[in-house]
Amino acid sequence: MGKTLDRDRAGRRTLLKGIGALGVTATLSSRTSATAVKKADVAIVGAGVFGTWCADKLQRAGKRVTLIDALSPAHSRASSGGESRVTRCGYGSKQVYSEWSWSSLADWQALSARSGLPIFHPLGVLWIHRAPDELVQASTTVLKKLDIPHRLLSARELRERYPVMKTVDGEAGFLEPRAGGLMARRSVQRLAAELESRGVTLARGRVQPIRRSQGKEGALSALTTSDGRRIDAEQFVIACGPWLDRICPEAMAGRLFPTRQEVLYFGAGAAATGALPVWADLPFYGLPSIEGRGFKVADDTHGAAIDPDSAHRRPSAAAEEKARGFLARRFPSLADAPLVESRVCQYENSSDGHLVIDRHPGLDNVWLVGCGSGHGFKLGPAVGSHVAELVTGKAKPREPFLLAQKERKQDRAVQ
Ligand SMILES: Cc1cc2nc3c(=O)[nH]c(=O)nc-3n(C[C@H](O)[C@H](O)[C@H](O)COP(=O)(O)OP(=O)(O)OC[C@H]3O[C@@H](n4cnc5c(N)ncnc54)[C@H](O)[C@@H]3O)c2cc1C
Repeated sequence: MGKTLDRDRAGRRTLLKGIGALGVTATLSSRTSATAVKKADVAIVGAGVFGTWCADKLQRAGKRVTLIDALSPAHSRASSGGESRVTRCGYGSKQVYSEWSWSSLADWQALSARSGLPIFHPLGVLWIHRAPDELVQASTTVLKKLDIPHRLLSARELRERYPVMKTVDGEAGFLEPRAGGLMARRSVQRLAAELESRGVTLARGRVQPIRRSQGKEGALSALTTSDGRRIDAEQFVIACGPWLDRICPEAMAGRLFPTRQEVLYFGAGAAATGALPVWADLPFYGLPSIEGRGFKVADDTHGAAIDPDSAHRRPSAAAEEKARGFLARRFPSLADAPLVESRVCQYENSSDGHLVIDRHPGLDNVWLVGCGSGHGFKLGPAVGSHVAELVTGKAKPREPFLLAQKERKQDRAVQ
């Protein structure tokens, strides 16, 4: 290989710098020297939650893996770059996500247990709703069937347990006591560091768009980076989050809808919020102050279209006003709490909100993985397992993740 990946050593050092801060030793070892880089079995583009878990599962399946990212794992503009994410199993009738969320939880707990800092906070997740609620009824049926712990709480029980939360008669709670919050950025960076120490090649580079015409007999032999380097592999997993349509325009153009989402953190002492779980009162949801970051309030309504590269990440006054209106109704003691932090991120939505996990139409050895659509983070480990089965020929692409099921117009079907 004339121009090899690891010629970008400075880039790789940058990639690993933040990870080193986690107390994980991730060094440039001899196996990544110029002479040692070999053609990978699988090259994965994108070191977000999906790319890193795909790398984990593929390596565990015995594959030699290269993981390449234009910037670094869970960087500020990536969809996995936020502080925290919710993990819950209640998905209405969408049983596959309940199953995947439950199986993923074991991986998150294991990652959390072997990391120096917590990755999973077992706070429980509470859906506040007005009974009867279709989503809660369907979730109850599915969770019962899968034997996943959950319970219903009356308005009176909600008032007794969570006095900071204003509850009116007719409202109820659906509590998943084993669910909770994930430290998003930390988990991806921690996993990336582990991958490096287990022999996965981590590289930095912006991969050029992939087109059908590059294939020979319907297969791709290599990717190229914007600075002319070549990445050879037998198979390719493209997990580029909100950039998926840029790298695979023929497959994804018009089928990816990145939307601007604002997350606000309000200053509230632990005493103010007591033992609150993660909560959802759609379209709002949030977490109590974990690790002292403030009381998180986010609006799940899809915002305006956003360009993940050029968008400024300034919070809007309108989002704060809306969040304060919500706080005044549901958590009145926090209505005037100071805003202590904010983030503007993007959902990378498919037309229906289902993930995309499918073969590239026209390139048999290229797999598209993404469209987390505001709910994909928790599913990372299960997505990695499914992709490993696809790549090793143990599974076939399946509904509801097929590209052919995706439209060029949004019609959200997953909450
Ligand atoms: C505000 C917000 C709240 C959310 N809340 C939840 C939640 O509570 N629970 C939940 O489960 N999910 C949640 N999600 C969804 C979840 O976070 C995302 O779906 C998930 O993180 C997407 O991960 P990804 O790996 O697909 O993409 P990303 O994390 O964006 O990673 C893609 C990577 O690809 C790289 N890349 C792109 N193009 C190239 C290229 N050409 N060459 C090389 N590298 C490239 C990028 O640099 C990036 O690092 C939320 C999302 C947001 C924004």
